[in-house]
Amino acid sequence: RAKKLGRNQICCFEDEMQQKFHQRLKIELELREAINKQQFKLFYQPVIDPINESLTGFEALIRWQINDVIRTPDEFIEIAEETQQISAIGLWVIEEAISTLSKWNQGRRKPLTMAINVSAVQIGDFTVVEAISECLLKYNVPAHLIEIELTETTLLKDSMTSRQILASITEGGCHLSLDDFGTGYSSIAHLSNHPIDIVKIDKSLMPINSQDIRNIALVKGLVSMASILGLRVIAEGVETKQHSLFCQELNIGRAQGYYYSRPKSQHDIEKEYL
Ligand code: C2E
Ligand code: MG
Ligand code: MG
Ligand code: MG
Repeated sequence: RAKKLGRNQICCFEDEMQQKFHQRLKIELELREAINKQQFKLFYQPVIDPINESLTGFEALIRWQINDVIRTPDEFIEIAEETQQISAIGLWVIEEAISTLSKWNQGRRKPLTMAINVSAVQIGDFTVVEAISECLLKYNVPAHLIEIELTETTLLKDSMTSRQILASITEGGCHLSLDDFGTGYSSIAHLSNHPIDIVKIDKSLMPINSQDIRNIALVKGLVSMASILGLRVIAEGVETKQHSLFCQELNIGRAQGYYYSRPKSQHDIEKEYL
């Protein structure tokens, strides 16, 4: 009986592998047409000043819609990276986010910022730098309103080229922020070796409650380290009033999370915020 069960388990495992493989292949093929078919959309999550809950800007987050099914980045970004398709997708994201910001900032006294996620693959060649500066010109957006979000993977590659690309982005006036800070291989060396001036504290570090002394201490530590290094801080994953108060106490300048708002379509943002 044990033997039989074992064999069944192996069968299930193989089925699962095969299913995963097919799903992957399906996504890979569908991705090739996604740009032409205009299936990508950007959602925007408001970034908030926790002190007065005022809006300071947005983070652009990609969605992939086929008919009524919306896929989130976790379902396709990795595949897009492995197949290099992320380069073309990334260029689309840059233009879409910058043109939208340009529209939203028309006639505003205090302009809003836009954070754009960029993959490590995109930091492999200079087209990303050219795309950013061309779009800033084309849509008349000041560079300092743009925050390019990198993850640690990008910094770990650390080639001569990637260094030059990151330097060019900041020389052009855009900010660089380190996403998901406090997870993975976060090290102070990364921060001081690269022209990063913003850190985004990962949502997994938001304390569950006032007894969660581990995360409370971790966030406090990261915030004071950031302050010593002259970095601005954004907190991610602010889901409750308590989280928001915690950010206020620690003097965290900006925050985002479901407590303030989920990421929303351009249409919904324009209806609710602008
Ligand atoms: P990220 O840049 O760290 O973005 C934050 C993620 O947390 C988003 O997931 C957002 O919807 C989610 N989030 C926001 N507030 C809360 C909250 O209060 N609680 C919880 N539990 N989650 C919250 P999303 O949109 O699924 O994006 C996942 C990741 O995909 C992003 O993580 C980013 O690394 C990547 N990504 C998104 N858009 C792009 C893009 O245009 N290009 C590239 N290369 N990567 C992207
Ligand atoms: Mg991000
Ligand atoms: Mg993040
Ligand atoms: Mg994240």
